[in-house]
Amino acid sequence: MSQDSKSLKAGAAGAGAVTEPSNFLRQIIDQDLASGAFSQRTNFAGDPIPSIITRFPPEPNGYLHIGHAKSICLNFGLAADYNQQPGGARCNMRLDDTNPVKEDVEYADSILDAVKWLGFDWGTHLYHASDYFDRLYEFAEILIQHGKAYVDSQSADDIHTNRGNFGQAGKNSPYRDRSPAENLALFREMRDGKFKDGEHVLRLKIDMAHPNIVMRDPVVYRIRHTDHHRTGSKWCIYPLYDFTHCISDALENVSHSICTLEFENNRPLYDWIVNSLKELGVFKDPVPHQYEFARLNLTYTITSKRKLLQLVEEKHVDGWDDPRMPTIVGIRRRGYTPESIRLFCERIGVSKADSWIDMSTLDQALRDDLEVRAPRATAVLKPLKLVVENFDANAKELCSAPRHPQHPEWGNREFHFTRELWIEADDFMKEPIKGFFRLYPPIGDQPGSRVRLRHGFVVECTGFETDAQGNVIQVNVTHFPDSKSGTPGSNNYKVKGNIHWISSAEAIPAEVRLYDHLFTDPHPDSGDKNFLDAINPNSKETITAYLEPCMKDVKPEDRFQFERHGYFIADKADSKPGKLVFNRTVGLKDSWK
Ligand code: ATP
Ligand code: MG
Repeated sequence: MSQDSKSLKAGAAGAGAVTEPSNFLRQIIDQDLASGAFSQRTNFAGDPIPSIITRFPPEPNGYLHIGHAKSICLNFGLAADYNQQPGGARCNMRLDDTNPVKEDVEYADSILDAVKWLGFDWGTHLYHASDYFDRLYEFAEILIQHGKAYVDSQSADDIHTNRGNFGQAGKNSPYRDRSPAENLALFREMRDGKFKDGEHVLRLKIDMAHPNIVMRDPVVYRIRHTDHHRTGSKWCIYPLYDFTHCISDALENVSHSICTLEFENNRPLYDWIVNSLKELGVFKDPVPHQYEFARLNLTYTITSKRKLLQLVEEKHVDGWDDPRMPTIVGIRRRGYTPESIRLFCERIGVSKADSWIDMSTLDQALRDDLEVRAPRATAVLKPLKLVVENFDANAKELCSAPRHPQHPEWGNREFHFTRELWIEADDFMKEPIKGFFRLYPPIGDQPGSRVRLRHGFVVECTGFETDAQGNVIQVNVTHFPDSKSGTPGSNNYKVKGNIHWISSAEAIPAEVRLYDHLFTDPHPDSGDKNFLDAINPNSKETITAYLEPCMKDVKPEDRFQFERHGYFIADKADSKPGKLVFNRTVGLKDSWK
């Protein structure tokens, strides 16, 4: 992890030292380390391996989202921390790619990119569950030979019905007592393509009356005459998740297999499989254990790959990397930094109870990250013309401002003060409301307001012009030539308003995309709600703004604080020199409430 993120962590904790917050997973790992059972571990070949091994195991059937970021930060973060301790630690990157139907190389590539972008490194430990197909098959045969698995030839419907339900035990299949030899012969024929999809399945022989339905002879292999994106046409039977996952963990010597709470019911099955194979001499202690934590639910968004796919396919958004999407590619394009996402994950912590995290927590993490390191710039988002009546039309006055108030070493930006300027339309009111200290015209015998044009001169409003509909199209002011910022005596002018501006002679037009929540409901898919009903029709507004002249060389993904507005990023895909496009990441303050 970079130095940057360390200092951020320290800042967040409000102390100088980098102390990791404790959580129930750390307590478990600490106890396991203290027990000595995890010291001096070796792999199957007898080579030494770290005491602690975690893994991040996404299925490559979609793009990763902010929920996955929590799992990534947790698994890679634990490995990074415990690697500082005797025995060491690492986190494996595993693509859980055993379902041939929904998976794709495009997804696999984007997953690896996302983890790297978040700042994590798996070194040489990239694995694919599909690489284990031979081993998984071999272990299935071992279980068959020892009477722990059987080929069932009931229809899918019958298997489902005969599983029973919560109050009612299941019924044994009529094929449950096939001999190991018969099962083995049938399983080999399944593998050799002798049967059609669905004709047979392989099931574990556990207990059809088990109170936990997951344990009622779960199906572990099914026939699918479908090519796999990595193994091609080699297989026509594929192992199911519950069988694959625990065995993959064991093959990789994972010590702590961390997943989300919905897998709690599957834990007894996880243990049954690894312990059965341990008893049969396949695995040795310490075998991996599964631990569950609460998934991340973030307000005003959804974190389900299936629903995100629907948003993309039905064109409710402009693609997986639409800056409104909670995907890592979307969040990245929106302008969030990897540091801010890691900081966010650290602040929300891990627990065993489901809860909702407010989107503003993510936004605040970005502000806390960028406040100290984003260069400042001026942008006028809703331009209104300002004419300085007593400034010569051919004159210009050089002004400057620091690139960052806390980094004088970054130097200054330079720009000119001219007769015609752009200001924000919101910085003028024809009839000021109480407490409005920006520009307003003379009223009765009261003079117009005085404001400082930041880094420029103090001006006094003398009037304004409107179009035929009464819209204000121009504001007129006079300036005080001895009030220029940074010159002796400029402080003699006491004004309450301080507004930004750009010379219309050198303003650079840019497309700016202002984003709001994708959903109007903080919990768009909770209960039996249809998340499509809660789509915010105003989640994207595109405007033409003006930027100060130093912005002409901006590169894609450069980030700035546009003073008084918030944090913005030059769009990764669409921004080019000569045609700048910016996305608003977040405003300076939380405006959602
Ligand atoms: P989805 O439900 O969106 O399809 P998934 O759980 O099926 O997600 P996987 O690819 O299986 O996606 O997830 C990889 C890892 O990320 C798993 O360990 C999973 O538990 C974890 N994960 C997925 N969603 C979240 C979330 N919202 N919060 C925390 N961890 C998550
Ligand atoms: Mg899953």
